[in-house]
Amino acid sequence: MVTGTLIYEGKAKKLFTTGHPDEVLQYFKDDATAFNAQKRGTILDKGIINNKVSERLFRLLEENGVPTHFVERKSDREMLTKKVTIVPVEVVVRNVIAGSLAKRLGLKEGEAIQPPIVEWYYKNDALGDPLIADEHVRLLKLATPEQMAEIKGLALKVNSVLQPFFAERRMVLVDFKLEFGVHNGRLILADEISPDTCRFWDQATRESMDKDRFRKDLGKIEEAYQEVLKRVCG
Ligand code: UDP
Repeated sequence: MVTGTLIYEGKAKKLFTTGHPDEVLQYFKDDATAFNAQKRGTILDKGIINNKVSERLFRLLEENGVPTHFVERKSDREMLTKKVTIVPVEVVVRNVIAGSLAKRLGLKEGEAIQPPIVEWYYKNDALGDPLIADEHVRLLKLATPEQMAEIKGLALKVNSVLQPFFAERRMVLVDFKLEFGVHNGRLILADEISPDTCRFWDQATRESMDKDRFRKDLGKIEEAYQEVLKRVCG
């Protein structure tokens, strides 16, 4: 199916050119990495699941007024997207204390965060994607203050759309990571939204249904990803 040339290969996706200069094809792999790629593995059919879950969530967000790079899902593992220049900031939104927040501040996992918080991480593998402040974004010229304000507003809007969507599916949206890009001078949501980039807990059991099962060797990884697909797209 892929006919274009490879532009970039990341940890979980490859990007290819298309016949259209304004569009790129995202190919979703089964490769999984954690802890800045120190841990590697594969999760069977992860690429298919992340592609389909991302499609559903991008469509939902577009319907709710959030601009995204999504154009069309082309096949099980391929998504046609608008070509963007990525803002090198990972945007994390948190509703419940977990992961690096718990570790960094010595907090107990599982407590609700109200109102939700937004954090910036510098997208830089060599530095291990460090947490940064607004002033560092400005210092490094990663985005303008106006862009940061718009990104924060969009990130919170994404949260307000996704939180009830997952609650209806008996899932807690604990936290998630977003990436934004500029297309024709306009900020749009890019990358993917999937069990690789979000924490989901089952509402009843509080069990992880996301990449934490891989990070922490919790087992039943494929089953969890399949269950997310079923609840989101089924
Ligand atoms: N996340 C991500 N990519 C990263 C780092 C984090 O998608 O490179 C997601 C992660 O899945 C979680 C959220 O961002 O949903 C917050 O992650 P955290 O800062 O707690 O870091 P972690 O515990 O994953 O190291």
